[in-house]
Amino acid sequence: MAICFDNTYAQMPDRFFERVKPASAPEARLLRVNGALAGELGIDAAWLDSPAGTAVLAGNVLPEGADPIAQAYAGHQFGGWVPQLGDGRAILLGEVLDQTGRRRDIQLKGAGRTPWSRGGDGKSPLGPVLREYVVSEAMAALGVPTTRALAALATGEKVLREDERPGGVLVRVAASHIRVGTFQYFFARDDPEALRLLGEYVIARHYPELIGVADPWMPLLEAVAKRQAKLVAGWMQLGFIHGVMNTDNMTVSGETIDFGPCAFLDTFSFGKVFSSIDRGGRYAWDQQPAIAHWNLARLAECLLPLVSGGDEDKLEGANCALSHFEEHFQEAYYRGFANKFGLRQVGGQTGLWIRTSLALLEKAQVDFTRFFTALGQAAGGDETPLRGEFGNQGDLDGWLAEWRALTDNDPDLVRMSESNPRRIPRNHRIEEAIAAAESGDLAPFRRLVDGLASPFEEDPDFVDLERSPQPNECVNRTFCGT
Ligand code: AMP
Ligand code: MG
Repeated sequence: MAICFDNTYAQMPDRFFERVKPASAPEARLLRVNGALAGELGIDAAWLDSPAGTAVLAGNVLPEGADPIAQAYAGHQFGGWVPQLGDGRAILLGEVLDQTGRRRDIQLKGAGRTPWSRGGDGKSPLGPVLREYVVSEAMAALGVPTTRALAALATGEKVLREDERPGGVLVRVAASHIRVGTFQYFFARDDPEALRLLGEYVIARHYPELIGVADPWMPLLEAVAKRQAKLVAGWMQLGFIHGVMNTDNMTVSGETIDFGPCAFLDTFSFGKVFSSIDRGGRYAWDQQPAIAHWNLARLAECLLPLVSGGDEDKLEGANCALSHFEEHFQEAYYRGFANKFGLRQVGGQTGLWIRTSLALLEKAQVDFTRFFTALGQAAGGDETPLRGEFGNQGDLDGWLAEWRALTDNDPDLVRMSESNPRRIPRNHRIEEAIAAAESGDLAPFRRLVDGLASPFEEDPDFVDLERSPQPNECVNRTFCGT
């Protein structure tokens, strides 16, 4: 068997999913296979690259052992309740146990309609497929938990959006696709039995340390909150703005999911928003922890019916579990930024100092990623690149004196180089790669993926990927592009 499936979600009760078959795409072409990830999954990358492998990835042939399903979920989108969402353009082919014994989902995104498609076509344009490939793989290389990309395909078909676009399929790999919205789906249907089964499944798959714990639901909530706190802190330290942190786009595994309108900051700004549909700035860079907390409160509501005891005790338990989110977030955020700045210690004033430093970047309109790369060079003795990032040297002089004092003139060079990437998937590069691919030239996409595979290493072949966009290259709006 080319892929050793071992499916468990498809054994859940029928109301958790619908059995579906991927649509076929006879003209499909494989654009990229992720050889390293295939290896992790114990799948032969050469086979994926062959006609037989491509036929499976394109949805044309169902591999032995697959049990394809579309999962049910609901969610709050921009704060508004949607009782039924579900996999409308994604099909879970099955699960595999990877080389370390970790269970991973293999999903085809853009492989046709499912019972949850509503008015949609279940397809995906090629642009969002390539965007997700680039950004999710960069995120993994940057060390942040994320769903992965096993392959990108062009279907050879046209999909109709504002205009006709080439179609694509992304083969997504995830620790699981269970979302806060999966719990909400059953909560809204007043189905505590399903909630309990789902909760037990999540504990077994993602939080095995809670197996056998009596009344594990609030410990589960706190464990999910802890992973989300670290995740959001990790995003913010990279200048990442998720852009669509709806409850259906928040996994309980703690992986980043959904790369629709996401973007990385070029110049730093606390309230930066890229997504064209986020008019109120709900998912701005600095709103992300508050939104994660709000989403976790929705998860708390779903778990409460499972908790034993009186109503007041239950509420107090939930509030207590949620209250730890802020602590976990601050710990990860302060420690992470301290590393970026080369501070060896986190103290009572660190949070305020980080904020003041970021305010300086915002005021001076400095590029977030380049600033930290240049600060590393300053720490190593060369201030020239850092000075080059600032128009007004006066602002920088005062700050540098403070920074030198705080680090006792001995910044932690190792932590700085390990937490300050040189290259991030900049928006203008992604758009450039997509535009080229749409007109048949895949070279910029391939080069972008390659250049982002080791983002912390200096690499003279990819210095162009370190550059900020020129004013005429700036991309300030991103679109869901579904
Ligand atoms: P998203 O904005 O990507 O998180 O998707 C929100 C919901 O819309 C999910 O239920 C998707 O499955 C569904 N959806 C998005 N695009 C399509 C499409 N092209 N066809 C069918 N359903 C879709
Ligand atoms: Mg989504």
